Amino acid sequence: MSAAAPSAEAGGGVRTAAEQGVWDLLSGVPDPEIPVLSIVDLGIVRYVRSGPDRRLHIGITPTYSGCPATEAIRAATRAALDAAGYREACLEEVLSPPWTSDWVTPAGRAKLAAFGIAPPPSAADAGRRASAPVGCPRCGSLATERISEFGSTPCKAHYRCNSCHEPFDHFKCI
Ligand SMILES: [Zn+2]
Repeated sequence: MSAAAPSAEAGGGVRTAAEQGVWDLLSGVPDPEIPVLSIVDLGIVRYVRSGPDRRLHIGITPTYSGCPATEAIRAATRAALDAAGYREACLEEVLSPPWTSDWVTPAGRAKLAAFGIAPPPSAADAGRRASAPVGCPRCGSLATERISEFGSTPCKAHYRCNSCHEPFDHFKCI
């Protein structure tokens, strides 16, 4: 496989109108597990670029390997592209580098918190993530405890706040 020409990657570079149109479209494709987040919020859309074949190429990185949402995300993305007239667009799976919860955008983190899901720690917190307490998304208390490794989906762990006694899901770090 030859290396693709350098182009606009997620979050940077100059986008053509067609590329921006696809970004806007994908911003409306919800994550099947956490519908308040779009796949762009989740940070799994790695690039949208025009290839030498004049087709748009869209790179998507699966979140957690084995996450059942991966196939649903692919299908929803394809359907959105087709419905918007991007039938020629090429959907590509990008396996390297692997997705990390650091890629969730600031807007995505705010949406998670508003939805009552503790967002993953930001990259700045990465060094202390192993020991960092999980804050309650409702009252902000750090007096929380993990109830189970798996929450409503395999990608989330289930916690309970000991201050307001509300259960909540925490988006796991990988
Ligand atoms: Zn609380």
